[in-house]
Amino acid sequence: MANILSGLAATPLLMAATLAGAAETPAAKTVLVIHAGAGVERATMLPGEEKSARAALEAALRAGHAALAAGKPALDAVSAAIVVLEDAPEFNAGRGAVFTHDGKNELDAAIMDGATRRAGAIAGVQRIRNPIALARAVMEKSPHVMMTGAGAEAFAASIGMTFVDPSYFHTEKRWKQLQKALRAEKDGKAQVDVETAKHFGTVGAVALDAKGRLAAGTSTGGMTNKRYGRVGDSPIIGAGTYANARCAVSGTGWGEFYIRAVAAYDICARVEYAGQSAREAGEAVINREIPKAGGDGGAIVLTSDGNFALPFNTEGMYRGWIGADGVPHVAIYEEDELAEP
Ligand code: ASP
Repeated sequence: MANILSGLAATPLLMAATLAGAAETPAAKTVLVIHAGAGVERATMLPGEEKSARAALEAALRAGHAALAAGKPALDAVSAAIVVLEDAPEFNAGRGAVFTHDGKNELDAAIMDGATRRAGAIAGVQRIRNPIALARAVMEKSPHVMMTGAGAEAFAASIGMTFVDPSYFHTEKRWKQLQKALRAEKDGKAQVDVETAKHFGTVGAVALDAKGRLAAGTSTGGMTNKRYGRVGDSPIIGAGTYANARCAVSGTGWGEFYIRAVAAYDICARVEYAGQSAREAGEAVINREIPKAGGDGGAIVLTSDGNFALPFNTEGMYRGWIGADGVPHVAIYEEDELAEP
């Protein structure tokens, strides 16, 4: 399934464009780029799911854009967009999170402020409706960067965060995916098991605000049938999420490979130290380094000049962007054209 070069060859999928007329008005340069996972599977798409996924992507873009248009920081745009995606059952984050081996949902998320390099992350929470909000609270209301499991939930309670019953995260599609993965495991089909576990629906956002500040955030249910407290790349700063003054990245894909490649940081390091564009750096890491190591997935990359790229090497990646004009652009499959700025 993974066509390594697919995200490379088709230029609309790997865009790098500078927004025209930048900096004439305070909001002229703002841009928000989102993804909702590189695990697009046409064969398993339920009737109406494509339409509702597109609607959710557009709603997320509008929510983030509203923050940017109001002059709010990139962090607010990232949080607002991700909350919408977490609430949408189509994606593997928040409400639509995949199931663990034990039939639970364990959620991971991270957020990073490029201007200050402050970051917050949580892993393995089971009762937080919007994990991205808790990750942000870790950053803003604690001296720490990362909290896990029961400790993260105790912190959430201490700051008055609303909890949901774990059944909130039960969706039929994800439950069936777990049953399939468990059957494959029982039959000893290890390779099939890995394939059936790869429902990359992680959501993420990167934004550039009117003051030129960048931010990145990512939220996920991880991988189907995960166990032993497995944590993927999404909440790990530098692996699935990273932002500094020049570059912001959110990834989606086979987390173990993103962790080993320190993928998000490597992309930003290439931008910062090698002078690569968003497109060059994204292409090098996502479509060359990760597949070379045996992994797959995608990412969104945004640089402080307003250039962005959305590389991936799977059948599709839920993705979109919105500029200062407030018109959302979304795409799902590899062959879908995504308008350029
Ligand atoms: N990267 C996520 C993980 O490995 C999965 C995904 O992108 O959906 O946890």
